[in-house]
Amino acid sequence: MYGYLTGFHKSEARLEASRKIAQHFGASEFIIFIPDPQLDILLPGQGFPQTLNHGEDWQPFLKICLREYHSDFLFFENNEVKTPVCGIPCGEDSVAVLIGGRPAESVLTELVPLLPLLGALLKKEQEVLFSESHAGIAVKAAYKSNLLASTLDSARQALHRSLMREEGGRKDVLELMNRKDEFMDMASHELKTPMTTMKLYIQLIEEKLNGTADKTLLKFIHKAEYQVDKLVTLVNDLLDIRKIQNGKLVFNFSWFSLSELFESAADLVASSKGSHRLNILNKNDKQIYGDRLRLEQVLINFITNAIKYSPGKENIVLELSGDDHHMKLQVTDSGIGIPAEELPFVFERFFRVNEVVREFQGMGLGLYISAEIIRQHGGTIGAESQVNIGSAFWFTLPLEPAASSGS
Ligand code: ADP
Repeated sequence: MYGYLTGFHKSEARLEASRKIAQHFGASEFIIFIPDPQLDILLPGQGFPQTLNHGEDWQPFLKICLREYHSDFLFFENNEVKTPVCGIPCGEDSVAVLIGGRPAESVLTELVPLLPLLGALLKKEQEVLFSESHAGIAVKAAYKSNLLASTLDSARQALHRSLMREEGGRKDVLELMNRKDEFMDMASHELKTPMTTMKLYIQLIEEKLNGTADKTLLKFIHKAEYQVDKLVTLVNDLLDIRKIQNGKLVFNFSWFSLSELFESAADLVASSKGSHRLNILNKNDKQIYGDRLRLEQVLINFITNAIKYSPGKENIVLELSGDDHHMKLQVTDSGIGIPAEELPFVFERFFRVNEVVREFQGMGLGLYISAEIIRQHGGTIGAESQVNIGSAFWFTLPLEPAASSGS
């Protein structure tokens, strides 16, 4: 029996040695079960057959064997038939089991004293394995966390660098924008006074020349006046933009007839631009509560655009309509139109349709300012357009109940 024991110190030789012990006692298998520290059940030790079905029968059987010699009939591996088994306690919470035979306890006397030795051996072996595997896991985990830490650290550094860059860039952009705004403010104000003076002088000269027969000089003066008017509009637009940005666009609200404003604005434009025919469809003469000058500005912007962007297409329709709640004003031309993909942006600041940039003068500010004016009146603004067919720009204004009742 002692001879068999030498085969147990290595798990590879263990199967061979255990089968010899089994045969010695007329059984087919000899297995030592030891407690699994993680599962808290008894399982075959290293090197023994590991297949053990029907745990629900085996575990209670092994539990009894922990205390005393015990025999039973149990399934082993894939056997269809139950096999005779007997178990003997071997200390260290382990059990030795003979499968395929049930020798009486008395027959096992030469084996029993050796069992605590085998139990202790397997238990020690399992502890070593267990701590080795734990140590392995710990080493791997340390390696992984090291890797993770350095990845995190380089990500943190990259983020820090890019934040610093972005912060620096943002500061530069903000400073440039501030400087641009300051320049715009200064330039607009500086230009405004001399231009008003120029305009006054031009008007004075115009009056003086009107009485004379010098038509050529008068023509030059008209041209000069036209250019000064353009500059005045541009400077006023720039000043308006700054006011919108600072929330300082001031409105003087009063009751007035939009229909009158509509006709006078049309007359004003028609007299200065003889190239187009303005067809007026005035279907609404209700009073509106708004800023007369600002609404005139929107209307004139619509009409001058309609003229500017429809060269050679002389018909422009101005229509004032409405219902009990709103007034709608629309300017329709048969001009170059706007591509569908650019139409949604026409009310944005500095936006100009790609096609027009080289051919037509402009800054892309008028519609942006118009949209802000209409928004401040609680109205809506919009446009429909088709390339080479024409465009319709419109705004609606809400009618106050007092206004709709005609007061
Ligand atoms: P500007 O005419 O000075 O460029 P606006 O803000 O008045 O600026 O108009 C913005 C852009 O919308 C114009 O540049 C033009 O491309 C387009 N647009 C405006 N009105 C018309 C129109 N009636 N027909 C075609 N395009 C138009």
